[in-house]
Amino acid sequence: MIIVSACLAGVGCRYDGAAKPCKVVIRLVAEGQAIPLCPEQLGGLPTPRQPAEIIGSQVIRKDGVELTAEFTRGALEALKLARLVGAKTAVLKSRSPSCGSGKIYDGSFTGRLVDGSGLFAELCKQAGIEVKTEEEI
Ligand code: SF4
Repeated sequence: MIIVSACLAGVGCRYDGAAKPCKVVIRLVAEGQAIPLCPEQLGGLPTPRQPAEIIGSQVIRKDGVELTAEFTRGALEALKLARLVGAKTAVLKSRSPSCGSGKIYDGSFTGRLVDGSGLFAELCKQAGIEVKTEEEI
């Protein structure tokens, strides 16, 4: 079983209430090969919500409020689901502070990228789940 970011499956769970549908991911879900989840919603965050980015070891909302605890809780809950279904692979949305892998926004809210991964993507890797972005499949 594959875990996928729910926004890639067409769910409007992004900070702005929109989805980022990816045809390959939607097909994987429709064929029963993948399960969509959204770590940020699992962490109790509302939709829509203000954007947040990682700065150092913290997750900071655009207005300066720290959301590290909510993002961490969501990543841990999402990992529970990934383990429950025995996921070996995850296809996660690029650049997100939860789902991004390899490159994420740098915390300046200007679109600049730095090397790094989102909290959920990092947990998946530590748990031995292979993480790919939608741009790599
Ligand atoms: S946390 Fe992941 S699944 Fe949820 S909206 Fe952000 S990128 Fe998509």
